[in-house]
Amino acid sequence: MSENRYYQPEIETMPLEEMEKLQSEKLVKQVRHVYDNVPFYRARMDEKGVSPDDIHGIEDLHKLPFITKSDLRDQYPDGLCAVPMSECVRIHSTSGTTGRRVVAYYTQHDVDLWEDCCARAITAVGGTKEDVCQVAYGYGLFTGGAGLHGGSHKVGSLTLPMSSGNTERQIQFMMDLGSTILCCTPSYAAYLGEALKEMGYKPEDNKLKAGIFGAEPWTEEMRRDIEKSLGIKAYDIYGLTEISGPGVSFECSEQKGMHVNEDHFIPEIIDPDTEEPLPLGEKGELVFTCIDKEAFPMMRYRTRDICVLSREKCSCGRTLIRMKKPMGRSDDMLIIRGVNVFPSQIETVLLQEGYSPNYKIEVDRVNNNDTLDVYVELTEDQFSDTVKTVTAAERQLAGAIKTMLGINPAVHLVPPKTIARSEGKAVRVVDKRKLHD
Ligand code: ADP
Ligand code: ZN
Repeated sequence: MSENRYYQPEIETMPLEEMEKLQSEKLVKQVRHVYDNVPFYRARMDEKGVSPDDIHGIEDLHKLPFITKSDLRDQYPDGLCAVPMSECVRIHSTSGTTGRRVVAYYTQHDVDLWEDCCARAITAVGGTKEDVCQVAYGYGLFTGGAGLHGGSHKVGSLTLPMSSGNTERQIQFMMDLGSTILCCTPSYAAYLGEALKEMGYKPEDNKLKAGIFGAEPWTEEMRRDIEKSLGIKAYDIYGLTEISGPGVSFECSEQKGMHVNEDHFIPEIIDPDTEEPLPLGEKGELVFTCIDKEAFPMMRYRTRDICVLSREKCSCGRTLIRMKKPMGRSDDMLIIRGVNVFPSQIETVLLQEGYSPNYKIEVDRVNNNDTLDVYVELTEDQFSDTVKTVTAAERQLAGAIKTMLGINPAVHLVPPKTIARSEGKAVRVVDKRKLHD
């Protein structure tokens, strides 16, 4: 059973007091390390009037300056590297979803601790050396493939380094080699589910038992959809290149938020406007401090992911703090006619109303008015309907979205297979207003 299996039980079930002691010891050392080795950190700390001697433990974390994505871009490529280049063994880079790519450096120690985090995630969903782990995240600069690949090796599972794409071959290997765990983005998992069905397979025909899906926001509705189409349990995993990659946090059997590997990464939630830390349970911007990494140890890095932390006891026995599924990044948020809209809210409505997760959102400005167009693909079954019923369905769906968001969209139900599928991170939003700016 997955419930009580841990990869590193002494860490994953460590009493809070001990964990805080461990974090404090590591933090003190880490602050000294970055101050001594990274001119940028030294300058920032001097500017803020804080020295390594002021940091005695996690209670002093709030004294440290923040670091933002634009700092990373300014310091590109290696201005924040805290060890000589000869000590580094790997680089990865962000997917560039929101602008210029950022490059992160890893020592062997950094790769090791990252792979341990992914091994914890695989073990938490029931993975063992008996499993066949199909890694369908992209390999290369993107961290998805490398992270889960390393974690799968550590667990001792048979690793299938498929990378993303080539869907027919994915399915052939899944079937022939009996994959039991699938790792990819949720949008690609949904696509694989659809492709399996088209090839005539039923959910029970594959040997998969669990999926580890992340790297992009996805909704509970999407989770249920994938679980049904693949006949598996679908688990969330979160991470970002700046902090290491997938496995910064991972879901357990509870499927209720992700345990943060807080022996390596201390999470905080801050008010994005005042930059003040918020109490546990409040929603705000997620910030991480890497207390173990050598080469690229981000200190109070502002992720822009909007999230909530919880210390509520978890039935899996892990004591690691949990974070809720992030709703999306502050920069994913669209402001349409003055209303804040997260694409994930629209996804929730679509799936609740029985539509497919294949959709596209287009925002534009016409005569100084924001427009919101939602294109939703019909399934073959839905498509046989007459024009009259389609128009009624569009109106009904627009009403449901209006109830959720408070603004009226134009809904377009489009024929099957007209919206491009995603093999990695899905691009669902086109904001044409940016073109006019
Ligand atoms: P980029 O910033 O270019 O997308 P990354 O590949 O490092 O580069 O992506 C990290 C980001 O992906 C996170 O900051 C977060 O916004 C998003 N992300 C990763 N995992 C999840 C998840 N499980 N749920 C929601 N968002 C996620
Ligand atoms: Zn748990």
